[in-house]
Amino acid sequence: MITQVLPIDDLSLEMAKAEIMRGGVVAFPTETVYGLAANACDTAAVEKVFAVKGRPNDNPLIVHVHKDYDLSELVTDIPSYSHLLTKAFLPGPLTMVYKSKGTVSKAVSCGLDTVAIRIPSHEGAQRFLKYVNIPIAAPSANLSKHVSPVTALHVFDDLNGKIPLILDGGKCSGGIESTVLDCTGAVPCVLRSGLISREMIAQVVGECDEYVFKDGEKVRSPGMKYKHYSPKCETALFSFDDREKAFELYRTKSSEGLKVFLMCDDEVAKQSGCSDILNLGKTENEIAANLYDKLREGESVAELIIAVAPQKQDGVMVGVMNRLKKACG
Ligand code: AMP
Ligand code: MG
Repeated sequence: MITQVLPIDDLSLEMAKAEIMRGGVVAFPTETVYGLAANACDTAAVEKVFAVKGRPNDNPLIVHVHKDYDLSELVTDIPSYSHLLTKAFLPGPLTMVYKSKGTVSKAVSCGLDTVAIRIPSHEGAQRFLKYVNIPIAAPSANLSKHVSPVTALHVFDDLNGKIPLILDGGKCSGGIESTVLDCTGAVPCVLRSGLISREMIAQVVGECDEYVFKDGEKVRSPGMKYKHYSPKCETALFSFDDREKAFELYRTKSSEGLKVFLMCDDEVAKQSGCSDILNLGKTENEIAANLYDKLREGESVAELIIAVAPQKQDGVMVGVMNRLKKACG
């Protein structure tokens, strides 16, 4: 199969829609990462998504809709706090889990009676979702366990020959996956941290829990149990406080002839004295936006990536640390 990478225009949208309507899959951009789209109501198409990615079949997909889509077609029991959150954050990188009405295929939720709904803010994503005007099941458009894609080229590197079309909407501005929020309880609960932090949610609705997996319990967000986001080279992760040890390891391994890159924020980069750096930038949002891009760049040039965690550990950095630990921990 030839994989075309096309800018988003009427022609490529028409091609994407035709592919989706005949049960195929295409990749499209969002503000977080690129998604691999299928008709959420077509079980065979949803199964194709799992097959293309090599995704375990107990890790449910998120359903994407455009901003004017009537959610009552898909879910029930929307709590009042959800309306406040919708007003504050949507369209945007917040996925909300509700009780499913059974409209989308059971294969989407892998047997759960809930469904995760996302309304992305990316203009290209909105255009695509409006154009097809059906619920779209989409995980990240990478091979399972590999680093999530934030450019069309990243998608191409993983899925060339496996899908017919990648809609190219440029580099994703957010860079890490959406926050997944369980909205089936009296108080919302963060199942996966992301760009909309627990603090931001609590500020709008007063209270917000954070799910912590306990041994022996049935996991509430199955995706969280999997190793994710790994680059293809060796990795090591140091805390901010242990950064001197990271610099030392860099020097030792470099002197042994290994191709080593230090991945860290701009401030640590300046202190390090290291020459080969994957610089994540200065601000929280820059660090999130650059993380996957730098991991992908790193695996193409380095035999070993030594990452230093950011000093700040709250807000958006909770989501960044979660990914960093899964990639390099
Ligand atoms: P990905 O598609 O790789 O961004 O992963 C989707 C994430 O959403 C995973 O962590 C899933 O466990 C989570 N998710 C999707 N649907 C549900 C659901 N119905 N209930 C809880 N978590 C969900
Ligand atoms: Mg993923």
